[in-house]
Amino acid sequence: MSAPGSSFGDVMVLGGGISGIQAALDLATSGYKVYLVEKDPTIGGKMAQLDKTFPTNDCSMCIESPKFIECDRHPNIEILTHTEVAAVEGQAGDFEVTLIRKPRYVREDVCTGCTTCAEYCPLRVPDPFNQELSANKAVHIYFSQAVPLVPYIDERCLYLQDGKCSICEGVCKNRAIDLHQTAKKQVIKVGAIVLSPGYAPFDPRARGDYGYGTIANVVTSLEFERLLCATGPHEGEILRPSDHQHPHKIAWIHCVGSRQVLPGGHSYCSSVCCSYVQKQVILAKDHDAGVEAVIFHNDIRSYGKDFERFYQRAERLPGVRFIRSYVEIGREIPESKNVTVRYATDADGVKEEEFDLVVLGVGLAAPTNVKRLAEQFGIELNAHGFCRTNPANPIETTRPGVFVCGAFQGPMDIPESVMSASGANALAGALLKSRRGKLRSLTPRRVSSSARPTRPSRSRTPYGRRA
Ligand SMILES: Cc1cc2nc3c(=O)[nH]c(=O)nc-3n(C[C@H](O)[C@H](O)[C@H](O)COP(=O)(O)OP(=O)(O)OC[C@H]3O[C@@H](n4cnc5c(N)ncnc54)[C@H](O)[C@@H]3O)c2cc1C
Repeated sequence: MSAPGSSFGDVMVLGGGISGIQAALDLATSGYKVYLVEKDPTIGGKMAQLDKTFPTNDCSMCIESPKFIECDRHPNIEILTHTEVAAVEGQAGDFEVTLIRKPRYVREDVCTGCTTCAEYCPLRVPDPFNQELSANKAVHIYFSQAVPLVPYIDERCLYLQDGKCSICEGVCKNRAIDLHQTAKKQVIKVGAIVLSPGYAPFDPRARGDYGYGTIANVVTSLEFERLLCATGPHEGEILRPSDHQHPHKIAWIHCVGSRQVLPGGHSYCSSVCCSYVQKQVILAKDHDAGVEAVIFHNDIRSYGKDFERFYQRAERLPGVRFIRSYVEIGREIPESKNVTVRYATDADGVKEEEFDLVVLGVGLAAPTNVKRLAEQFGIELNAHGFCRTNPANPIETTRPGVFVCGAFQGPMDIPESVMSASGANALAGALLKSRRGKLRSLTPRRVSSSARPTRPSRSRTPYGRRA
């Protein structure tokens, strides 16, 4: 039975990428209290790391960051960053979730985001937001539009390592630094759960043959997004890792970790890579019209709205060649650090060509620690580690009351992630409709006249039939 004061109309959204943000906003605006739980120090997910988005090449952060603010200011949304799930108990309509709030070592309630702590911090550590292509202070705000706009202290901080430095504590006028903070347990009661933990970019180290990690000028496509971006490691200048020089000839290799049954790869198509590579080619040419771009692909899959036109736009640019061939990374040339790529065409047979920079079009893999997540939530995964869903309704997981949206359903782009998030809102809302509009934090302005009490809904079976 419900504990006094519990709110079974509340919903937990796990994962604060674009799909989780959209689900939280839709649910909150429909009249449900939402806990938006994110393991990183800020919401945003991968979309925050992208420079522009296909097929319009709009600025990614310009689209996403207003949603951060909307979430932050929404009276029905409680954002819990730096937080992970420890346990889930109960059933549809009545879940109890134990959360672990990891120490940020900075008090969110008193920090003003002034960043004086970062100014004085003596230690620089690889910056995860920039895919470790640059360094940041051990205490820093994850990125400038972060929500909450509060720094966190990296575990490599000198104080946390051996107690040798506490400069940040001394310079913070608001006494927001708390180097003795420990993990805290928080229990929430919710009626429904929306899973939106997204995906992990395929790690090419799983396939040793791409030279990633051993050849300096082989980078992943997510790293290239950061290189393109004005908030990236070189403030929008595309500089290659080995010598920080502008590359004049760049190769993109498609399907890295996708459509491969070789050990370490995945047999499925990751659906977004053809278009994001075309986007990166167009943007690289915007940065430097003289760049020569060669795209090695299996075939081009342009199945979204306006995607074929986008492909043609990239293909028609001067100095751009699309070559249909599997490839092999040849070698790194010791003097120039250039990289050779071997490929084969019907007309020319096997050829080897030299590039200043090679970009690996990595696919979308299941999120890290996905097995643990599945066990915690009591859901099934498919053969590829993504969420097993109802074939007739891909928002339903195998557990009643637990819904899924975004790339955890399977590889998908941003518009699809947003659509599935709104779908999750509809299903979670249907399950909890009797509670709608009765929340402790609901402001009168938001109470809808249609939010009349209805009979409690009965549990759903995994695939939507009433139990
Ligand atoms: C190089 C590259 C370029 C791309 N370019 C484009 C583009 O131009 N246009 C486009 O439409 N799509 C593009 N995409 C695809 C796009 O990134 C995805 O469609 C989108 O990010 C999916 O959003 P999501 O919220 O489902 O997942 P994510 O963005 O992965 O967000 C998931 C969130 O959940 C959090 N999380 C994960 N596990 C847990 C947990 N256990 N507990 C708490 N939180 C957790 C993560 O930290 C993350 O914040 C690109 C992808 C790549 C790799």
